Amino acid sequence: MKLVSKESLPDVLTKVHSLVYAQSQDKFEAVWQDIKNQPHADFIRYMENNWLRCTETWALYEHRDAATLGNTTNNQIESHFHKIKNVIISKRKFGECVRTLVEVCSSSSVQQLHAEHIQLHKQHYTNGYQGPGVEYFKYCTSYAAKKVIEQLNGLASGEKYKANIGNGSISVTNSKSGSTFTVDTSSMNCSCGFTTSMLLPCRHVFAARQKLSLPVFAVELIGTRWLFSSLASCSHPQPTARVYLASTHIFDNATRRCLSRKEKFSKASALLEQISIAMSKTGQAQFNVMYNFMNRVKEKFESGYC
Ligand SMILES: [Zn+2]
Repeated sequence: MKLVSKESLPDVLTKVHSLVYAQSQDKFEAVWQDIKNQPHADFIRYMENNWLRCTETWALYEHRDAATLGNTTNNQIESHFHKIKNVIISKRKFGECVRTLVEVCSSSSVQQLHAEHIQLHKQHYTNGYQGPGVEYFKYCTSYAAKKVIEQLNGLASGEKYKANIGNGSISVTNSKSGSTFTVDTSSMNCSCGFTTSMLLPCRHVFAARQKLSLPVFAVELIGTRWLFSSLASCSHPQPTARVYLASTHIFDNATRRCLSRKEKFSKASALLEQISIAMSKTGQAQFNVMYNFMNRVKEKFESGYC
């Protein structure tokens, strides 16, 4: 805090504390304005360049409705990290680390914690929101519901969106930007990409539903991945057999003989093709995760790991 004089430091620290714990955006802005009115130009610049750009990571009002394991403790997460750190030690081979991690994650104590966590997520936090679409909080995670409400709020901004009924679809035009998206009325999918990547309804879908006099809430608009019902019933795959990543030979299961290079290539190609097909069917966000994962696998292979 060399950016602030010694005499002003206690006052600035108190105000920064008030920024972190501001209960609303208005209160946050008021405190920040108060700081800006004081002669701390270097500190103000530092805050603007480093911290005001990412208030969602530290300002309380930005994540008041986030489901957490409690307000005062993260012991459960720390405890889990401790178990992971015990597994990943430098003397252990990579394959052995992965096998042990799988065993830790599928152990009954961890599964029990996970089940309790899922149960906690089933509580819905509307954060006092009572506007249109509040029903979404009852059926899907608060993260998903919040995304849906954002889309609804985007639509509510005046006369911006115009919907025209076409043949089996509705075109929704943003009169400000001129961009047009097509909403398929049978599936309520939209060409903007939000619905397919997030598996949640976008503002164009809501504009189309408004045009068709359909209600704002419809549970079928939400992808099953976000629904409490699917969270409750999701089962975690138990390892049926130990996975030996560090196996040094590839055997033909039928003959127990070593495969030729050509046979290995075609066997690996078939497997990779199946992975490519599965990846091509996913949404953009999931594809990105999978792609990054496969890229790391590729790097492992290139660096000589087997
Ligand atoms: Zn859309």
